[in-house]
Formats: sequence, structure tokens, C-alpha cells
Amino acid sequence: MDRVKALMRDVPDFPVPGIIFKDITPVLKDPEAFGAIIEKFRLMYADMDIDAVIGIESRGFIIGTPLALALNAPFVPIRKAGKLPFDKIKMSYKLEYGEATIEMHTDALEKGDRVILVDDLLATGGTIAASIELVEKLGAEVVKCGFVIELGFLNGRDKLPEGMIDSLIIYD
Ligand code: AMP
Repeated sequence: MDRVKALMRDVPDFPVPGIIFKDITPVLKDPEAFGAIIEKFRLMYADMDIDAVIGIESRGFIIGTPLALALNAPFVPIRKAGKLPFDKIKMSYKLEYGEATIEMHTDALEKGDRVILVDDLLATGGTIAASIELVEKLGAEVVKCGFVIELGFLNGRDKLPEGMIDSLIIYD
């Protein structure tokens, strides 16, 4: 993970002043580092009897799709409002400024499915908390949430049950 950490790019004042954006694109350009992320998650979740990997739009898709294939598990997208074409359920949540809505197809999961949620980064935890609610609406169970990066100083993990978060790199 040292290589991943070294490749991460901090972009100050993006998308708004005061935010330091953690840009993973240099990591994605390095097959060794990108592959190490997927392999690390695969080893963590291989024996957990997982029914699906769910990626949160949009960088969660980049991590989630190769991981789902590596685990030989279905991939399910959680998307921003208005993008999914079929019957769907939705969940709204508060952002620092305003509100966001995420959606998932009603046939994406079965009752009792055990799933992994993945995204590139955990910040305040609002997105992942809403994603868990969405999954639970369909009667499925979130076993673990995997992140490449966690901004520990924002205490996002306090919003979630103990032991549910796996972060490969934590910035305190
Ligand atoms: P949150 O709901 O606050 O945990 O925010 C998580 C979502 O916003 C994830 O999808 C991240 O990709 C994105 N995000 C939030 N803060 C940052 C940041 N500093 N750098 C990159 N992405 C971020």
C-alpha cells in the first residue's frame, strides 16, 4: 500500500475552496498498484460467502467491478438519481451543502443476500450510510464496506456499526 499512498494525488480547493481532493487517477495508471488494491480486497472477502459486490457511483464502479469478477460474484451499481432505467428504490441524504439521492434497481438483490459495498473514499460517511439503508430496504445484509482511502479526521466510521469498515489507507 506504500506505492498506492505515494501515487495518490492531493488536489487543493477541488471541487470547492477548502477541500483537498484525493485523486486516485495516478493509482489507476499503475497496474501494479491498482492490482494490489483489488487483490487485497479479494483476499479479505474471499471466504465471506458474498452474494454481490456493490459499487457506489462513480469511483466505486472502478474498484467494484474488478473486485466482483475476482470474487466471481455479481456486480451491482448504486447510481445517482435519474441514471438507472428500470424499477428502482431511492434514498436521499444530506451533503455538506444541499442533498443527494442515490438509487438501485429493485431486482438488484434478493432478500437475505450478503453483500460488500465499495467506494474509493470514506469522508463524512453520509454516502455509505445511505447506501446501507438502500441495501437493507431490499432485505439484504451489508457484511463489509471497503474503501481505498479513509479521511479518519472526519469520523465517518462513527455513523456505522463497529467493524463494518475496511480502509486500506487511513489519513488521521
Ligand atoms: P461522504 O459521503 O462524505 O463520506 O463522501 C464520500 C463520497 O464523496 C465518495 O464517493 C468520495 O469519492 C467523495 N469524496 C468526499 N470527499 C472527498 C475527497 N476529499 N477527495 C475525493 N473524494 C471525496
